[in-house]
Amino acid sequence: MRLARVRYKDQEAVAIVLAHHAVLLDGVRSIPQLLGRPDVVDRMEELVERLEAHQVPEDLDLGSQVRPLPELTFLAPLPHPPKIVALGRNYVEHARELGNEATEDPPIFFKPSSSIVGPEEAIVIPPESREVHHEVELAVVIARRGVRVPAEHALDLVGGYTVLNDVTARDLQREDIQRRRPFDRAKSFDTFCPMGPVVVTPRSLPDPDRVRVRLRVNGQVRQDASTADMILSVPRIIEYVSRYMSLEPGDVIATGTPAGVGPLVPGDVVEAEVEGVGVLRNPVVAHPG
Ligand code: MG
Repeated sequence: MRLARVRYKDQEAVAIVLAHHAVLLDGVRSIPQLLGRPDVVDRMEELVERLEAHQVPEDLDLGSQVRPLPELTFLAPLPHPPKIVALGRNYVEHARELGNEATEDPPIFFKPSSSIVGPEEAIVIPPESREVHHEVELAVVIARRGVRVPAEHALDLVGGYTVLNDVTARDLQREDIQRRRPFDRAKSFDTFCPMGPVVVTPRSLPDPDRVRVRLRVNGQVRQDASTADMILSVPRIIEYVSRYMSLEPGDVIATGTPAGVGPLVPGDVVEAEVEGVGVLRNPVVAHPG
């Protein structure tokens, strides 16, 4: 099942996304709130699967809560996660392309929720950087609290998956690493965390460690890999991260980017894609100041 946060007219809602329509859900405040009720999610998934199996018309007499997709604006699915944890160097080829060693204890950093934007929202190139890079990543949405979670139970925490573009001011990051400083500023500018367009539940993405991850700039492929190439798999990422911090409902973990990172300039259109999740498309613009 695919879940989204959408705007319809002046109303925002959590919605179940079907092939051509979305069902706007009454009384659901946020995607994490819904994912925290696995009994409700299970019933919804069964209903959606039955509708699809019997090829029931999506807009069949379900009233105004069912809208055709073109009437909706897709928003960032999680506007204010408690935290966005990100892994660096979780693909061997990407670690090498930036001159780093790949290890089984990859660096952990955070991105602020103020950097989140949704699909079709602009990535703004800040005046402080001359080298802003794209990084497509599979992102894990946490639904249940856990700390020191062994890998064999780690997927119990997962509520779904989305696409995240870990936009990075590479020049500032490089400078900070050389000066032995944390590089948070390079990851934190407003608009540096595009996310979406949907959250796909584990039932619809049963093997997150075997999906293709791709990124195109103006239609040209820049990144193309499989999550099978990740050094730490999704369960091992959860085990690793939860060793150092509690994971809480609504947290997002960005699992690292494959090789092929490169510059974005104003006028570009970037499409980050995770197979089975969707395409996250964002234009790139110059800072107005
Ligand atoms: Mg990254």
